[in-house]
Amino acid sequence: MHYTGTIWRPPYEVSSLLLEVTAGCTHHKCKFCTLYNDLPFPFRMSPAEDIETDLKETAKTMKLWQGTAYRRTFLTGANPFVLKTEKLLEIADLIKKYIPSCNTIGCFARVTDVTLKTDKELTKLRQAGYDGLTIGMETGDDDALRFMNKGYLATDIVTQCRRLDKAGIHYSFFYLTGISGAGRGETGAELTAELCNQLHPALIGANMLTIYPDSELYQEIQKGNWNEESELEKYKEVRTLVDKLEIPVTFAALGASNAFQIVGNLPRDKQKLLAALDKIITGVSEEELRHYRKNLKHL
Ligand code: SF4
Repeated sequence: MHYTGTIWRPPYEVSSLLLEVTAGCTHHKCKFCTLYNDLPFPFRMSPAEDIETDLKETAKTMKLWQGTAYRRTFLTGANPFVLKTEKLLEIADLIKKYIPSCNTIGCFARVTDVTLKTDKELTKLRQAGYDGLTIGMETGDDDALRFMNKGYLATDIVTQCRRLDKAGIHYSFFYLTGISGAGRGETGAELTAELCNQLHPALIGANMLTIYPDSELYQEIQKGNWNEESELEKYKEVRTLVDKLEIPVTFAALGASNAFQIVGNLPRDKQKLLAALDKIITGVSEEELRHYRKNLKHL
């Protein structure tokens, strides 16, 4: 299989076939992000022959597994959904040809990738199997989106996700706890809940900001342009987000960036999640949480 650099996937794509169709990110400008810094280029599309070779290899391996077959493919790279619709449809055809058991195709997507597609194209992509996108929305706080160079604002998230809703393409969000900066965590969470409450994400996955020296954000901190939230403020921020969410959605903080892993279905598990967060806020010290963050060598 062709895999280039570190391969990132959401925790819930653990059983999916990971197919490399792109490597890196077309945007590559978010100040906090170091995810694809190990690549010698910002973004690359895989050669068509590499994709087909990998699918052939997978089909062969599945025969050896005798009956165990992939039901879902996850296209790797930060935003394969940026590819032209024709290219994405070609990839879907190849997947169907070699892995007929595969019903759906997911990938990471940027809000701006959806903007590039017409409503008709989104419907076609849904019919071809594209469903379950993971969007690194990060926050509904425009000041933070602007400062971090995300390349879109809260209103763009709402507009584009409503188009996905209309096309029947389900999506999950990644939320970045800490993105609003010191003193603004709970405000950022309120703005994010307000945004999410207008949409239909299947899951909101919270990751906690961990700042590495090779990020632009680290330089901003050195220059005195931005201050990091304390670890306890980050947990208060998560608590506010959970508290203010009014839609039925799975809330999960499962990645390595979270010192404590929590997951539950809202609204049913709201009190349980809030109680777990209160226990952390009142029972764990800033020093302990900071120690975890400082020793997190890799996300
Ligand atoms: S956070 Fe996502 S969109 Fe931003 S640079 Fe990193 S991979 Fe690209």
